[in-house]
Amino acid sequence: RLETSKVTDLIERRLEPDVATMLRFLGIVGSEVNMPTYVVGGFVRDLLLDRKNYDIDIVVEGDARVFAKTFSRYFEVTCVEHKEFLTTSMFFRNGLRIDVATARTEYYEEPAVLPNVEVSTIKKDLYRRDFSINAMAIKLNQEEFGLLLDFFGCKNDLEKGIIRTLYPLSFVEDPTRILRAIRFEQRFNFKIENRTLELLKKHVSQNYLERVTGQRLRDELEKIIEEPDPLKAIKRMEELRVFEHLFPDSVVDDEALRMLDRYFRRKKSAKPKPVYILAMILLKNAPERSLDYVIKRYGFPRKFPDWIKRAVNISEKLKRTVQSGEQLTLRTFFYLLKKPEPEVLSFIDATLDDKASKLLHDYLERIERIKPRINGKLLIEKFGLKEGPEIRKILEELQLAKLEGLHTEEEEKFVKELLGSG
Ligand code: ATP
Repeated sequence: RLETSKVTDLIERRLEPDVATMLRFLGIVGSEVNMPTYVVGGFVRDLLLDRKNYDIDIVVEGDARVFAKTFSRYFEVTCVEHKEFLTTSMFFRNGLRIDVATARTEYYEEPAVLPNVEVSTIKKDLYRRDFSINAMAIKLNQEEFGLLLDFFGCKNDLEKGIIRTLYPLSFVEDPTRILRAIRFEQRFNFKIENRTLELLKKHVSQNYLERVTGQRLRDELEKIIEEPDPLKAIKRMEELRVFEHLFPDSVVDDEALRMLDRYFRRKKSAKPKPVYILAMILLKNAPERSLDYVIKRYGFPRKFPDWIKRAVNISEKLKRTVQSGEQLTLRTFFYLLKKPEPEVLSFIDATLDDKASKLLHDYLERIERIKPRINGKLLIEKFGLKEGPEIRKILEELQLAKLEGLHTEEEEKFVKELLGSG
């Protein structure tokens, strides 16, 4: 049953003027080419929730290419066609992007393969979407500008805070929706509706996640990690027994959660790749065959098992140091770490409490910045040393002393003393 209401006032009040004007303009272009034109999906959801969203997804009942071509007569945009999906992306000079799709319905020849595309109406287009909260459209053509199209009780679900699939086979047709359901539920503090939750659990236990390509799962996982509070979603995934199907032999216990919490809190950039760190933490005790599995399935680097091995090894040594009552110092990190790979480092950092983590970062900052003036060549030429392991040892001691505050003008004296003491 189609429910409609006008949301023109929300468009005017909640959106930035440029965005509202752009929506009106898109509707005018649609009318020019005689196409019913809608903004759909996440943009509509977020407008009703009063959350910022600059991803404008347009659906037209007509040829998206013709729409984009007409639009580009008025605005300088670069159009990129994705023929198989009947969509065209329009890229503006300032980096903004608007996607235009021909209204379509997808039918699946077998579960979990990319769908065929068939031209259809807006209703069918909305019906194939993941959840009711994402299945609304707002009409943009002048005469009906601001008309909210709600075929499936979507607005009601949004108001009640419910994540609901639109049809029973939804998770079968696209099992990545299992992860999307959890992501939206946790992001908005919503609840996955009972029946949807039953189906979700059922399809998880029947190994539907295993039927999707690793790349698509990885994309969804990465989106979860980018959420402001990924840990919530990770806990929920564990509760719904999702991880055992993504990473066999993974363990999501208190220790892993504590590490993840630290990692997410301290993470400043997307380098090293967060999905690697997540997997390292969850698979830190997993057997080799599970690591081989994730390498193949998700295209992880061959070095992945080595990272884990090294990270676990160093972490255990650090743990033993602390347990023996010894203080962690720059010296401890120097001997255990040297210059570790970023992935190894992120893992180790996640094992440390805030104070130790601070010291670790202090160490890393110093080792980057502080270089002794005396080098190997100078040791040979000036101090008469012969090439060999001794030189390395001296340079190491010198570097360490420098980290701990030795001045450049004291270097020579320091080396002489070292040599003198044998
Ligand atoms: P976000 O705020 O995270 O960007 P979004 O809802 O905009 O959320 P997108 O992944 O950008 O999410 O997808 C845009 C729209 O396309 C969604 O609102 C939804 O209607 C539809 N959609 C995306 N992925 C799926 C899917 N796997 N199955 C069905 N519909 C999907």
